[in-house]
Amino acid sequence: TTTIGVLALQGAFREHRQRLEALGARVREVRLPTDLSGLDGLILPGGESTTIARLMTDFGLWDPIREFHARGGALWGTCAGAILLAREVLGAPPQFGGQQDSLAVMDLSVRRNAFGRQVDSFHTGLDIPELGAPFPAVFIRAPVIERVGEGVEVLARHEGRIVLARQGRLLASSFHPELTPDTRLHALFLKMAAVPVPG
Ligand code: GLN
Repeated sequence: TTTIGVLALQGAFREHRQRLEALGARVREVRLPTDLSGLDGLILPGGESTTIARLMTDFGLWDPIREFHARGGALWGTCAGAILLAREVLGAPPQFGGQQDSLAVMDLSVRRNAFGRQVDSFHTGLDIPELGAPFPAVFIRAPVIERVGEGVEVLARHEGRIVLARQGRLLASSFHPELTPDTRLHALFLKMAAVPVPG
């Protein structure tokens, strides 16, 4: 069985757990570096990226997660989690000097709260060609992927803006696929995490 960790510091981690368990995966909540051992993949959930980042510092998780990925572990960031994966974070609040820590493992530029404050959240049937029928996507103060590097595949756009991308064993989504019962994206991530690591 594939074992997936869900970073359980803040945000929508319980819902990810439910979707994964519905697919028969084994799930572990990750709070400490030792929780990463033996996992095939790790989900960084949505929530508040500066809060999650602060807790990652408190729990000493930055380098252990980078090393987990370097050893072949798959990573999926949803919403705030996508911000944490990105090489470049745009639109960080001025009180942080416009700077924000991230794992910088995925070659993306991600802009926080990019859909504006008037329309804080919305729902749409998102066309994800790889999955077939439209995916029910929930966006909550969502970031947008403004730039992707060469090795990054764009898997979906909303009104022309990139909201789902993959790079090797990395997946980033602007929206919250765990907040609807549709498990197709979780199934896709399970497949990515189950591929044996070369070498
Ligand atoms: N706006 C949040 C952030 O920038 C992300 C929102 C979410 O994860 N739903 O961290």
